[in-house]
Amino acid sequence: MSEFETRAIHVAQDPDERTGGVIPPIYMTTTHKQDGVGNLRNGFEYNRAANPTRSALQEALASLEGGAFAFSFSSGMAAEDAIIRGVLKPGDHVILANDMYGGSYRLFAKVYKDWGIDFSVADLNNENELEAAFVDGKTKLVWIETPSNPLMTIFDIAKISATAHKHNAVTVVDNTFATPYLQRPLELGADIVFHSTTKYLGGHSDVLGGAVILNNEDLAKKIEFIQFAVGAVSSPFDSWLTHRSIKTLALRMDRHCFNAQSVANYLEAQTDLIEVVYYPGLENHPGHQIAARQMSGFGGMLSFKVKGGEATAKKVCSSLKLFTLAESLGGVESLVNYPAEMTHASANGTPLEVPRDVVRLSVGVEHISDILADLAQALEAL
Ligand SMILES: *Cc1c(COP(=O)(O)O)cnc(C)c1O
Repeated sequence: MSEFETRAIHVAQDPDERTGGVIPPIYMTTTHKQDGVGNLRNGFEYNRAANPTRSALQEALASLEGGAFAFSFSSGMAAEDAIIRGVLKPGDHVILANDMYGGSYRLFAKVYKDWGIDFSVADLNNENELEAAFVDGKTKLVWIETPSNPLMTIFDIAKISATAHKHNAVTVVDNTFATPYLQRPLELGADIVFHSTTKYLGGHSDVLGGAVILNNEDLAKKIEFIQFAVGAVSSPFDSWLTHRSIKTLALRMDRHCFNAQSVANYLEAQTDLIEVVYYPGLENHPGHQIAARQMSGFGGMLSFKVKGGEATAKKVCSSLKLFTLAESLGGVESLVNYPAEMTHASANGTPLEVPRDVVRLSVGVEHISDILADLAQALEAL
């Protein structure tokens, strides 16, 4: 079971011992019978600590990211919160990239700043700026999101991780956009991988979740303790749904990549209406070379700037028909989002503010001709 696609289907999915059910049951139970006080069956006791369905998902996630430990949470933000509380203490400092998910920025700016965790924002692609951002003895964590949300900036995971380690800081990579099928940050030197499994891992816009995967045992123990002590765990049913979806991740990602590349090529050719297309698979994308090195495909997300500003951007959003105007991403269905007022509204007035002429697409796995036809009719309407 060495290949990714095979592990995605078979890790922690042995047929049920008792009935032979090919798919193990969903363990909708909160507590487990003990055979005498303290004599637990396979370590299961109370389900804030561990549940068999969640444990199976965690095992699969660890295998796919090439990590020793994985923890599954009720949302991406709950997983981020566990990383922050597990790794940091009041007085510590964090370096954030200048383009990232608005909610992650908000967690630092609006929640943890008041609890004594400081941060600075830097262009992590600029070596001097990154070096200058470290506060001696205080910077404990560098947070990378690559490709970033929503501008698809690519950050060099190996290089930034090496710089962070030189300063005794830990790197976290938000791998939500790439998925472990296209990019495995732990193999590139990162310390912690984070996912909003709500997106590609879940893949069908029907289950919220988050995950943390890592190799460092000390950090894993701290995050495990937060998961247990605070309790933002994924439910058995949510864990099962996510695990079920992971089995088709490779198939879905291949199609997402193909469709997004086709859309990027199409949009780039509409030079009278579109200013720039942000997709790492385009050769003129500033991060194309690094992406080609650290990813095995360029993903299903892209953004573009329209000529004509905010009004035109909003018109594109409302003219699309196959693309549903909605937050979130990574599902089988195509979605369009206006970051400045939707996903990234909380970044307005901050260094991460998204320009008002940017439209973001989550390109689904529908037939490419239907996707392109929808974009063509929306652009014609301008
Ligand atoms: C959605 C998202 C998150 C937050 O995860 P939730 O599951 O919504 O809590 C974090 N990072 C990225 C890149 C995301 O897209």
